[in-house]
Amino acid sequence: MFIKPIDKPLRLLKLEALARRLPHNHPKHQEILQKLYRAEAGYSGEKSLHYYLTQKAGRQYRILHSVKLNTLGHDFQMDFLLLHQTHLLILEVKNIAGTLRFEPDRHQVIWTKPDNSVKVLPDFYLQAIIQKEHLANWISEADLPQIPINPLVVISNPNCRLEIPPQFNNHPSIRNMIRSAYLPTRLSSELNQHSKATFSLSKLESLILEHNLPDDQCILKETGVKPGELTTGVLCPACLNKRMIKHRYRWLCSHCGKKSRNAHVDTLIDFSLLVGPLITNIEFRWFAQIESASTAKHLLRELKLPVAGHNRGRFYSLTHITGNLQVNPPNSLS
Ligand SMILES: [Zn+2]
Repeated sequence: MFIKPIDKPLRLLKLEALARRLPHNHPKHQEILQKLYRAEAGYSGEKSLHYYLTQKAGRQYRILHSVKLNTLGHDFQMDFLLLHQTHLLILEVKNIAGTLRFEPDRHQVIWTKPDNSVKVLPDFYLQAIIQKEHLANWISEADLPQIPINPLVVISNPNCRLEIPPQFNNHPSIRNMIRSAYLPTRLSSELNQHSKATFSLSKLESLILEHNLPDDQCILKETGVKPGELTTGVLCPACLNKRMIKHRYRWLCSHCGKKSRNAHVDTLIDFSLLVGPLITNIEFRWFAQIESASTAKHLLRELKLPVAGHNRGRFYSLTHITGNLQVNPPNSLS
């Protein structure tokens, strides 16, 4: 069963907000779209495993999606972590289109993309082995008994062609790589292989959930886009990149005629994803392009956001409207 479900990654939400808010003629527009497509492909590959993980064998595991922990000063992230009383499984999911030629003796995978361009990738299984070592360290730092940990690479795109030179058929990098459809069979065999030792999972599970790190990297810092380069204004939810205009009680898109009472909430969520979880009246007026300080104040108050500070130093916390999203650390750009 899932104890940490497959939610849309925060990094993907941030990239979506950035793509929405970056003018099409910005020099980094294409680069950011490429990052967005890669993040979307990763998420879609992980989502596609839900079906296989909820079948009979998968239901015997306690499943966590996207876990990020820190050991010895290093963060490490696992796409899925499967817990069982007898062993743990780390799943490294690859959603890749094209052809992959495996050369485990050189620790590399040659990826021929659908457009026939070629890229060299590091051996997927080695990446998973490094995560296994980090997790074993983390468990030891937590003073928990060691438990067998098996890394597994899952190729989630059924149309991806795999080329494996026959001499490598028995290589660990190949034996521990499967396609999604084989996952239930592989989980059954893992369960059969580890039938003796028993390990209490409750402490491990609660420690992992407690220490799981938010993906709080600031996307503007990562991409080098400055806040002043973003498209501001309340964007029309139908036209996406057209600004809405505030009429007395509602927002109106002059392009498609869409009306909305609360389109500014999405604007505040974009601010939170791109800049940070706290906003002042002045920042709100800049980001939503609202001229009147009293209109901005009225809209912020109407949302009943927690407030701190006084007068011009007063800021509103947006965590109420972003739910459990762990966005950027406060003042990450100041
Ligand atoms: Zn519109």
